[in-house]
Amino acid sequence: MTGIDAISTARKTWKNWAGNQWAVPENWVRPTNEDELVDAVRLGNATGRVVKIVGGGHSFTDIACTNGVLISLDDYTEIVAVNGHDVTVQAGVRIGALSSALEAHGLALPNLGDIDVQSIAGAISTGTHGTGLGFNCISAAVVGLRLVLADGSVLACSETERPEVLHQARVGLGALGLISEVTVRCEPHFNLHAVEKATSVQKLMGRLDGLIRDNEHFEFYWLPYTEAVLTKSNNRTDAAPTGGEGKRRLEQELLENIGFGAVNMLGRKAPSLIPKLATALPGSGVTEYVTRSHDVFTSPRRVRFLESEYAVPLDAFGEVFDRLRALVDTLPAPVSFPVECRFLGGDDIPLSMASGRDSAFIAIHTAVGMPHEAYMASFEQIVDDVGGRPHWGKLHRKTETELVDLYPGFDDFRDLRDELDPDRRWQNPYLARVLGD
Ligand SMILES: Cc1cc2nc3c(=O)[nH]c(=O)nc-3n(C[C@H](O)[C@H](O)[C@H](O)COP(=O)(O)OP(=O)(O)OC[C@H]3O[C@@H](n4cnc5c(N)ncnc54)[C@H](O)[C@@H]3O)c2cc1C
Repeated sequence: MTGIDAISTARKTWKNWAGNQWAVPENWVRPTNEDELVDAVRLGNATGRVVKIVGGGHSFTDIACTNGVLISLDDYTEIVAVNGHDVTVQAGVRIGALSSALEAHGLALPNLGDIDVQSIAGAISTGTHGTGLGFNCISAAVVGLRLVLADGSVLACSETERPEVLHQARVGLGALGLISEVTVRCEPHFNLHAVEKATSVQKLMGRLDGLIRDNEHFEFYWLPYTEAVLTKSNNRTDAAPTGGEGKRRLEQELLENIGFGAVNMLGRKAPSLIPKLATALPGSGVTEYVTRSHDVFTSPRRVRFLESEYAVPLDAFGEVFDRLRALVDTLPAPVSFPVECRFLGGDDIPLSMASGRDSAFIAIHTAVGMPHEAYMASFEQIVDDVGGRPHWGKLHRKTETELVDLYPGFDDFRDLRDELDPDRRWQNPYLARVLGD
């Protein structure tokens, strides 16, 4: 075997993490260097097949799906260069491995989402974010990209070289090119002082504005059918780590173990019990610890779920949250997962969900196997009233005709797409829906 055959496997089914999306690609390719990436793209051209790249498979939408040529970058994960705070990596590296490698150089990404198993390219392609009004999504740290274009040529973009391409491609939805390398601007490695507290909706709402502004990274979870709220406040500290026992965090208990794991298991058998089970969940006390930043930002998710998340203007948060709480009581199927609320500063990235405005991110979840359509559709109606923007990697029903009004830079993005991918080599049903043909 030579060339592309050597890195291409026979037809087999690809599935995402949640198991709600799958594909049976004609070619499933695992390149190990950039020449092989280019070969895989040319294979798509030669056979007329759509080419998609899959990172960690952690999107809930069909954004990464194709039955054509599927490229996995799991063998393309090296650190390429470290220049001061700017680190260039191969695009398949997972956030967890990247964070460990950065730590070895005394560096860290400024902000992360709540898991670390996405690839860096997959994470930035959908605008993956954490929380913190003074911070932005991960894509905002990107200062350089190498893109393999649809014709197999390679385009490097940075703050000085084709900056207009960099500007758009930081959140590119996989629609502009195959990201071969990513350069991220890091900050010196830091520890976070994490404080996790149980409180009530009423107490929290009176203080929310201060908490969002006074903490570097603030978020909270609301437990449906209850007044219970769990808050997380994370701030940079020079203090040394307090040790591994601090890892026993409320969120992990809540999402993975005794709490919602049990609620979901029992709730699947007897849905009407869910509200009662939720009120019985543990929800008191304070957990406090110091450890390295990426261990605070991220944690494993063992209970599989489906998720929808919308970004709304920050000042619309209170109204949306109140309406969502009222909605939950009216749903035909009970909700067995907490609602996650995060806050992020506005940025200048055209397809970032926080583009041009400080934003609140509200995420709703249902366990795999439980009904989710009515909940997510009603949630969409609420956020529609305040110009909510869907997370590109999480379940939503938006189409290009609605999205064009939500993003001032939407048409500029589509113009760049016309220039870089005139034959729609990266097109799949998801991109056709959200960007059009
Ligand atoms: C349990 C869980 C927790 C999550 N938590 C968060 C969170 O805290 N915050 C948040 O914002 N999101 C979160 N997400 C969503 C997730 O971060 C995004 O969907 C992200 O895009 C997944 O990254 P991935 O590497 O799995 O990419 P994939 O889902 O595999 O791909 C996503 C997109 O990126 C494209 N892509 C991948 N690699 C390349 C490349 N090299 N070149 C061009 N395009 C490429 C794909 O084609 C696709 O369009 C979560 C998802 C799950 C399942």
